[in-house]
Amino acid sequence: MTVIHTLGLPRMGAGRELKWALEGYWKGDTDRDALLGRARELRARHWDMQVAAGCRYVTVGDFSLYDQVLDMTARLGVVPARFAWPGGEVDIDTYFRMARGRAPRGEPAFACAMTKWFDTNYHYIVPELAPGQGFVLARDDLFDQVAEAQALGHAAKAVMVGPLTWLWLARPQGAFDKLELLDGLLPVYGQILARLAGQGVAWAQLDEPILALDLAPAWRAAFERAYHVLQSAGPKLMVATYFGALEDNLTTAAKLPVAGLHVDAVSAPEELVQALDWLPATKVLSVGCVDGRNVWRADLDALLDRLAPVRARLGERLWLAPSCSLLHVPLELAPDTGIDPEIKPWLAFAREKLAELATLAQALDHGREAAAAALAETRAALAARRASARVHRAEVGARLAAVRPEDSRRRSPYASRAACQRAWLQLPLYPTTTIGSFPQTAAIRAARRDFKAGRIARAAYEEAMRAEIRHAVAVQERLGLDVLVHGEAERNDMVEYFGAQLDGYAFTGNGWVQSYGSRCVKPPVIYGDVARPAAMTVAWSVYAQSLTGKPMKGMLTGPITMLKWAFVRDDQPWRLTAFQIALALRDEIRDLEAAGIGVIQVDEPAFREAMPLRSGRRKAYLAWAAEAFRLASAGVADRTQIHTHMCYSEFNDIIAAIADLDADVITIETARSNMELLDAFAGFAYPNEIGPGVYDIHSPNVPEVAAMARLMEKAAARVPAERLWVNPDCGLKTRAWPETEAALANMVAAARRLRARA
Ligand code: GLN
Ligand code: ZN
Repeated sequence: MTVIHTLGLPRMGAGRELKWALEGYWKGDTDRDALLGRARELRARHWDMQVAAGCRYVTVGDFSLYDQVLDMTARLGVVPARFAWPGGEVDIDTYFRMARGRAPRGEPAFACAMTKWFDTNYHYIVPELAPGQGFVLARDDLFDQVAEAQALGHAAKAVMVGPLTWLWLARPQGAFDKLELLDGLLPVYGQILARLAGQGVAWAQLDEPILALDLAPAWRAAFERAYHVLQSAGPKLMVATYFGALEDNLTTAAKLPVAGLHVDAVSAPEELVQALDWLPATKVLSVGCVDGRNVWRADLDALLDRLAPVRARLGERLWLAPSCSLLHVPLELAPDTGIDPEIKPWLAFAREKLAELATLAQALDHGREAAAAALAETRAALAARRASARVHRAEVGARLAAVRPEDSRRRSPYASRAACQRAWLQLPLYPTTTIGSFPQTAAIRAARRDFKAGRIARAAYEEAMRAEIRHAVAVQERLGLDVLVHGEAERNDMVEYFGAQLDGYAFTGNGWVQSYGSRCVKPPVIYGDVARPAAMTVAWSVYAQSLTGKPMKGMLTGPITMLKWAFVRDDQPWRLTAFQIALALRDEIRDLEAAGIGVIQVDEPAFREAMPLRSGRRKAYLAWAAEAFRLASAGVADRTQIHTHMCYSEFNDIIAAIADLDADVITIETARSNMELLDAFAGFAYPNEIGPGVYDIHSPNVPEVAAMARLMEKAAARVPAERLWVNPDCGLKTRAWPETEAALANMVAAARRLRARA
């Protein structure tokens, strides 16, 4: 019998119960027992779901109160000194203080850093390593959960972040080679595995996704050493790799002295045969064959064609799984009533993906006739998707085919454009602007809710938004900003707002995916050719411009961000979808220009995030991504000024691509890096204008004039003053008005001080 299992499931629950339980606990509304009780209930439900789907083992340890990396960190007793952990067990309040700086009990302290988990939109808490960091088993959560599963009659497969991946993700606090800590780390992993074996756990899954990255030889060698130590510690070990091809790590992974290997055959289908060839004759191969990162129904017939020979070679040593943890997709499609009924049958969420695995296993074990009904249903859904006139639109294809190379090039080089723009816009030295959004107040959110629920009419809603624009414009004029924005009051989210107005995008009713902690996002689904039936932002921008003599900046989300923060169709390369979005944006930009908007910003905060994990694949991505941006933005006259904005980015290794965007102005987040991010621009002799953020918008603190002026002087030491702008790090939507006004007043004062000194 072919074993099916999952690397992990979403944690939040169908009604986001975990979110509400966590937030209730953090606020002090409920106690610890209520939170832990709710967590136990969710785990039980998720194990039942696996058993019902036919999983041989239920996965234990994928559930987390905040993050699975933090779970491992706490388990290893790696608590930074500022949390004043007395030793013993790491209690949940210490755990929550590490994640978010505060908890119902214990002194607040700086939270640990949070960053994206590989190329996903899930964020993990970064472990901090002190020099000579020690390790000690400090949390029994995994053993308790195993006992919980066993008490419910389940066979448990325990899962945890593997030692090399955990160490790789950790940040040393000081200059030392963290790999030297491995020898201290392994005994605690050994202890954990031994305890699991003592509980009768047959398998432990150790997640090592760094095997899909470029690894230095020392790290590759460390894999062999580590697993040699751990192999005899307890249960059979399955090393799980995902998010990409193994490439030069393939033989290392295949030959590790463990009982099983999981490979991601969705992102690297071409490697499956090679993995088989290298696999020792006793090892289990878990083939990640349905996409754990995306929501499309799998082509089961095609998979069976590929898996049948694998099954013939491996027999019962073949296991089937999703490509990675199902954490990255919503929990259940069936009860979702919000999604377009034509598109719904084309999709599969976590529960449906487990059912797909069951169908595959059944057909492999007993022949396709044994799974005839499920296979027929899949065939019908896929055929409908392929034939749908909403997926393939001749006019979109024809337009893309007609794109000429000059369409993605501005008419003149930056230097002559800059002269036209200066003459038209009449901006001072060190012009001031903001990144787009102003506070999304409770009143704005209430108006949107009321409008969506039909409690207020469209006209009343639009008038409420116009009132917000009037307010934002009046504030900016009073403060003396140079390039104004309308404030984005009418946007709930920078992707959803545009997706909802574009053909080819669909939205789910309840398709929540965890982003970090208790925060979830509901990514749209790009299912078909993208087209813009009507202008999306022009009326708002034109209204805002009518209120002021200063230039009003139009505000759009760029093609890469529109892709990366959505579930993207899998039936054509991302590049083509990006170009379709770019053409829709190109029309919007030209409409804005024709309506008298002279400055247009195209936000690309996800530009870097979408970059492939492997360096060898980056060049091709950066080339098409930059081309998509230019295809969107290059159709304007020389005097129209194109801005872009990026945050939370390192620029060193992508600076050539940033220059390749040929935006007239780029605004970036730099305040927290003390302008060091600008070194990449200076070193490259970046030719266009830059607005390095002078204050961090994540804090309500009002930045001082002198501090911002000092930062800009640092900037001017790297980039000529004539090419510098003064602006915050990012949009202000999460701030309140009083601190926003105070901060911007100081920012304008800082710019004036700089001009006076120039
Ligand atoms: N224009 C957007 C805003 O100001 C940009 C947001 C972002 O960079 N993430 O909110
Ligand atoms: Zn930003």
